[in-house]
Amino acid sequence: MALLEIRNVTKRFGNFTAVDNISIAIKAGEFFTLLGPSGCGKTTLLRMIAGFDAPDGGQILLDGKDLAGLPPEQRPFHTVFQSYALFPHMTVASNIGFPLKMAGKTPAEIKTRVAETLAEVELTPFADRYPHELSGGQKQRVAFARGLINQPRLLLLDEPLGALDEKLRENMQRELIKLQAEAGVTFIYVTHAQNEALALSHRIAVMNQGRIEQIDEPSRIYNFPVNRFVADFIGKINLLSARVLEVSAAHLKLTVTGLGEVTVPVSGHVKAGDEGVFAVRPEQVRIVAQSPEIPIESQLLGKIKDFLYIGDVTTYIIALSNNTLIEALLPNSVPGHAKLFDIGDPVVVSWQEQSAQFLPD
Ligand code: ATP
Repeated sequence: MALLEIRNVTKRFGNFTAVDNISIAIKAGEFFTLLGPSGCGKTTLLRMIAGFDAPDGGQILLDGKDLAGLPPEQRPFHTVFQSYALFPHMTVASNIGFPLKMAGKTPAEIKTRVAETLAEVELTPFADRYPHELSGGQKQRVAFARGLINQPRLLLLDEPLGALDEKLRENMQRELIKLQAEAGVTFIYVTHAQNEALALSHRIAVMNQGRIEQIDEPSRIYNFPVNRFVADFIGKINLLSARVLEVSAAHLKLTVTGLGEVTVPVSGHVKAGDEGVFAVRPEQVRIVAQSPEIPIESQLLGKIKDFLYIGDVTTYIIALSNNTLIEALLPNSVPGHAKLFDIGDPVVVSWQEQSAQFLPD
C-alpha cells in the first residue's frame, strides 16, 4: 500500500482551478518531487497534504486513512520552508529540540536526541549560536535537523534550497540525499529547478497548469518525456515540427521540417498522419567537419551559425541548408581549446536513431 495517496484532488480559488484532479501514490522511503513552472500548483498541493488548506474535491490518505478534517499539528508530518522559519530568539540546539519539547519529551531525552541530530548534520560546534550567527546553508541544515528529529512519516519541503547560491546548493543537494537515505523518512519536495529534481529524486511528478504531465524516475523523465511540455521543460532539446508517415513494429518514419525523412523508435500510441515534433537532445547531436570521405547524400549538411562557450561545454547552433536551426552540445575535453568549430564552418550533423523521438502534439 502507498504511504500517501492523493486521490483525484482538486483545489479552486474562485473560478480558477489551481490543482486539477491530481492523483499520486507515494511509497514509504521515497524522495518524491513535485516539479513544474511557477504557478503550476505545487505549493497548493503541498499545503493540502500538510493540512493548511482543504481540497475542494478528492481525498488525501495516509496508510489508507482519509486525512480530511485533521489539522496540520495532528498530522505526523513536518514542513521545511525556503525561509527556514527558525525561531530567532532560540539557539540552534533549542530550535532543533523544539518539536520534541512540544511532544512532551523529558529534558534528558531532548538533550540526547539533539546531540545526536547535531552530529548527523555536522552542526555540533554551532549548538549555542543563534540563527543570525549562521550562514544560509547552516540555517537550512538546522531547519532539516528540526524537521527530522521527530521522525515524521513525511517531510514536506517547499523550495528549501531556493535561497542558496549555486555552489552551496550543490553541496546541500548531496547532504539532502544522504540525510534522506539515513533517516529513512519519506520526502515530498517542491521545486521549479529541473536539475535539482533530477539530482535528488527517486521519482518526479512534472506538473503544468494544475495537472500532472508525467510521473517517473528522473532518467525516464529526461530520456523518455511523454510529451512536448515535459521534453521542453526538462533540460534543453531540439524540437522540430514533424508528421508521422509510416508506423512499423519498431520504427516510425517521419517527415521533419528542415530534415526531410527521418526514422525514430516507436513510442506511445501514434498513427500515420499524426502531427507533433521530432525531438533530440543537444548532447546527442554529433557534428563533424564536412569532408570528401563522407558520402554527402546520407548526411545532413549545415554551417555553424553561432556558439556559446560556457567552460565545460560549448553549445553550437547549426543552420541546416533550409535555415532550420539545430543545437549541439559538445564537451570541451581537449585541454586549452574553447571550441572545435568556428562560425561559418561547414559541418555534417548526425545522431543515433535511438536518441531521437517523436512527441505528439
Ligand atoms: P511557485 O513555484 O511560483 O511557488 P507553485 O507551482 O507553487 O508556484 P502555487 O503557489 O501552488 O504555484 O499557485 C498555483 C496558482 O494558484 C497560482 O496561479 C496562484 O496565483 C494561485 N493561488 C495560490 N494560492 C492562492 C490563493 N490563496 N488565492 C488565490 N489564488 C491562489
